[in-house]
Amino acid sequence: MTSTLDPFSKLVTDLEDYMAFEAEEGRSAVEIDPAVIAELGAPPATGTSASEGTAEATQTEDIPVKDKSKGSDLESVAAQIAGCTQCALHTGRTNTVPGEGNSQPEIMFVGEAPGADEDAQGRPFVGRAGKLLTQMIEAMGFQREEVFIANICKCRPPDNRKPERDEMDACIPYLKAQIALLKPRVIVCLGGTATEGLLGLTGITKIRGSWHTFEGIDVMPTLHPSYLLRKQSAKHDAWADLQAVLKHIGRTVPK
Ligand code: SF4
Repeated sequence: MTSTLDPFSKLVTDLEDYMAFEAEEGRSAVEIDPAVIAELGAPPATGTSASEGTAEATQTEDIPVKDKSKGSDLESVAAQIAGCTQCALHTGRTNTVPGEGNSQPEIMFVGEAPGADEDAQGRPFVGRAGKLLTQMIEAMGFQREEVFIANICKCRPPDNRKPERDEMDACIPYLKAQIALLKPRVIVCLGGTATEGLLGLTGITKIRGSWHTFEGIDVMPTLHPSYLLRKQSAKHDAWADLQAVLKHIGRTVPK
């Protein structure tokens, strides 16, 4: 589907949709990086191929596996997450949500942080957005159990607000540890916060659909299922991104 809006009108429309989405998620304020505002008049960025891979991880500290020589596996990472007090989010959690799925996945999906349903169950993407994510995975020809699903932050932020930068920085070593163990062929970043947390890039509506890399693994940013629930017309874009992922790993691309 090709937009007939000029770039500025499309930007305004996207911003309106985003603000409405944030309000629906219970957030009353949104921080916008001044650099993003400065960028509004700039021409759209061209996509970055996987081979070019210009994106860098924003956080390079070591993974917090206490004893890497013993049991540095998914369960030990989850156990360390369960006892983690590295950031303020630990005070409001019911359960940590380390992630779940296949330990040798072709595809790993990374979201933002647990919401109320996920916090209650200790599992990622189990609410309405999770149901849609499962449908997206199945449309790709996978079962949910065949992929791995995780979040940038493993504890629920209060009122479902966006995690703060320091909270993402505190938590991302766990995600890095999981990625190092899982070795997925592709990581799909779900939404702007996951993309910012993993790649340090903002502006998901411009970034989505272009390849990047994180520690040698190809990364495809796409739209968050919660956003797609609110903006049905954006499903076409998200599906195009997922089709690109399938093509990238040599899978049959469903029509
Ligand atoms: S969000 Fe991550 S860093 Fe913060 S307390 Fe939870 S597990 Fe630890």
